[in-house]
Amino acid sequence: MASEMHLPESLDVALIAPCGMNCGLCSGYLRDKKRCPGCNGEDENKPKYCVVCRIKNCEELAASEATFCYACAKFPCLRLRQLDKRYRTKYGMSMIENLEMIHEIGVDEFVTRQKKRWTCPECGSLICVHKVGCLACGHVWNQAPGKAKEGNHAGRDGG
Ligand code: SF4
Ligand code: SF4
Ligand SMILES: [Zn+2]
Repeated sequence: MASEMHLPESLDVALIAPCGMNCGLCSGYLRDKKRCPGCNGEDENKPKYCVVCRIKNCEELAASEATFCYACAKFPCLRLRQLDKRYRTKYGMSMIENLEMIHEIGVDEFVTRQKKRWTCPECGSLICVHKVGCLACGHVWNQAPGKAKEGNHAGRDGG
């Protein structure tokens, strides 16, 4: 319910997870109670599946000192492809596309484009990726045609 969440206010490069998820648009980050600080933040208030996430905790990522999976020799690995597929199907967002874009244009420009992409065409508020309707005005956008579903969190446990 909208009353239990606040609107996405701003997006920030620190909120882009190694897998390409934009935590600033996640219902976990936007909820009022026990607000998740985002993948790159402290574990307190993070859902367990994001604390134990196999991408965030990936040994290849740690070994490479890379910030994002696109720099990995195994990119896109199976676990990332599984997460990507789930997000494309349920939420109309692709982690792999995000990562390729970050690689190509840099994370600052990516965040700038994210602001445009995830702005409600009706009221101009930012949209939560896990909700089928704008939190501010209720406008339903064409998220994943015929497949839009409500979700409560990212569930970044995809593999
Ligand atoms: S729940 Fe997971 S995906 Fe959502 S903001 Fe927190 S760390 Fe990011
Ligand atoms: S692409 Fe896969 S193997 Fe490579 S850093 Fe990311 S999660 Fe790890
Ligand atoms: Zn709106």
